[in-house]
Amino acid sequence: MSCCACFTFLCLLSSFLTSFTVCAQDPTYVYHDCSDTTTTRNSTYFTNLRTLLASLSSRNASYSTGFQNATAGQAPDKVTGLFLCRGDLSPEVCRSCVSFSVNDILSRCPNNREVVLYYDECMLRYSHQNILSTLITAGAVVLRNDSTNQFERFNDVLLSALNPAVTDAASSSRKFDARKASFAASQTFYGLVQCTPDLTTLDCSTCLLTAINLLPSDRLGGRYLMPSCNSRFEFYPFYNQTNGRSSPSPRPPRPERKGGNSNLEVVAIVVSTIVVVLLLIACCCFVTKRKNKAYNRTPAFDGHEIATADSLQLDYRTIQAATNDFSEGNNIGRGGFGEVYKGILSNGTEVAVKRLSKTSGQGETEFKNEVVVVAKLRHRNLVKLLGFSLERQERILVYEYLPNKSLDCFLFDPAKQSQLDWTKRYHIIGGVARGILYLHQDSRLTIIHRDLKASNILLDADMNPKIADFGMARIFGMDQTQENTNRIVGTYGYMAPEYAMQGQYSVKSDVYSFGVSVLEIVSGKKNSSFYQTDAHDLLSYAWWLWRKGTPLDLVDPVIVHNCDRSEVVRCIHIGLLCVQEDPVERPAISTIILMLTSNTVTLPVPREPGLFFQSTPTKDPLDTDQSMKTQSIPCSVDNASITELYPR
Ligand code: ATP
Repeated sequence: MSCCACFTFLCLLSSFLTSFTVCAQDPTYVYHDCSDTTTTRNSTYFTNLRTLLASLSSRNASYSTGFQNATAGQAPDKVTGLFLCRGDLSPEVCRSCVSFSVNDILSRCPNNREVVLYYDECMLRYSHQNILSTLITAGAVVLRNDSTNQFERFNDVLLSALNPAVTDAASSSRKFDARKASFAASQTFYGLVQCTPDLTTLDCSTCLLTAINLLPSDRLGGRYLMPSCNSRFEFYPFYNQTNGRSSPSPRPPRPERKGGNSNLEVVAIVVSTIVVVLLLIACCCFVTKRKNKAYNRTPAFDGHEIATADSLQLDYRTIQAATNDFSEGNNIGRGGFGEVYKGILSNGTEVAVKRLSKTSGQGETEFKNEVVVVAKLRHRNLVKLLGFSLERQERILVYEYLPNKSLDCFLFDPAKQSQLDWTKRYHIIGGVARGILYLHQDSRLTIIHRDLKASNILLDADMNPKIADFGMARIFGMDQTQENTNRIVGTYGYMAPEYAMQGQYSVKSDVYSFGVSVLEIVSGKKNSSFYQTDAHDLLSYAWWLWRKGTPLDLVDPVIVHNCDRSEVVRCIHIGLLCVQEDPVERPAISTIILMLTSNTVTLPVPREPGLFFQSTPTKDPLDTDQSMKTQSIPCSVDNASITELYPR
């Protein structure tokens, strides 16, 4: 080999090695979201973006804190950006991830004004909007490990380990916490939570509570990523456990060309290095491939892994056979849209079959709406839609069967009320709140239920609540916060006044209905059962007792002597906050979850409830009318609650 050829060979080899050595240190790509596509490479915005990225990846950036934000340019071309490194990583790993990502982001999202790019080690984000100190949960993504876990009640284990992590992370300066927990004879899982440190403690907690509650706890690992915060769990230690600050794995030594080495020595070093490096690359590629394969990357609510409405279509005869031809004996209830039957499919699966009456107000549009909306939803606190049929002018929905039927069957039946002790009621309140959180926040879409009430809260065999009946749900666009309708559907007593009177519905009208349900759960009294009494309605009564300083008088006598009084009073307080007249004053569902799970959050003073039919109790109704005590209303019989009216 000539000297020149040898030198060329070494140069090639050297650059080959260098490139692979660098490859071995590249951060692990996870996901990216390029949203707004209105910029071009020769625009002022793009020039500002380059300046911003240069500043974020400069030598002086604060890699030691793992977080930095910056802005470049002036409105309307101003760009705001930030990076966030995983809290357990060293400044070196952080720097390397940020340096890599500022280039990678431009190739992944070349023409975008708003981007979030996630790696295992860091997150890089920029926008034309002000994203600093602002809680942003839109664009959430769930990553699910392919393998499911069969651990019983793993969700409880996960949440009990990560709830304290949320509290600690939110109150720390780095807004990061990681911990592991052992359970079920030698099983250990590892979890972490992290917010961008520009968030307030409350915003960080709110964000993280969403992030941990929506982790795919039925899998062997998963993540919930949002621009403002993220959570992750695995069944192996994926973060540095020693001091919370890991060192980067040492770079494989680069071959140095020492002047004194003979060509042979150089070749020997190079060849052995190649072998080592190739082995490393092979491992790296294998691990990366496995990692990519191990996760189902599902933009939250994109429905990628969920069956489409078409694939859920069932043969009418199958449903007929399952329900004994809709026999009376199989009838388990009646709602505003028709009868509900219990059925057993040929594979033994128990189902609830909702046969929509031909005279029901629900047209094909609502039917399809329910199918499309419900088919896309997957959450432990939502009833699963298993199939539907649209044959022979019949419209039928097939749901998972919930053996304990609906909450009203227990709550308002004196014979069954005692089966719901306070612990169960509190658990139901929390589960319903998490179900609503999923509807309101877990996606690019916001789903407003519009008919939350006790008969739409079903209970499984373990009394876990599942929200049902999405026939009236509407899908909102990402930035939409409120909509007006001239077709009002819902149930008197649960409808927020602005919805009942002006047709305005929003997440806050669901919060109102949730508040009514909470007060019903605490009191064991149906809101509508008050109409014939001096109290007029449950909300006025609860408010009156609150003002009088005797909120415990509201509590269902069946549980009052055996409940955690501070929890009960907190729930009444939360219920009253939810039913306030002004929707803006009502807390968001994420805040409600925080209020329910943390005693340290100070609750604001509630204002007077907003009522559709204004009324004020004049005297203590319990002194005057024993009919206040809820009479046994047969559950599942619709008391003409579905309403359609036109706003003034
Ligand atoms: P509305 O139509 O006014 O909302 P509703 O919620 O009671 O009233 P449906 O959803 O039709 O109406 O349900 C009627 C009843 O059937 C419920 O109250 C419940 O007792 C029972 N039911 C509904 N779905 C199921 C289910 N998946 N499993 C078990 N029982 C169910």
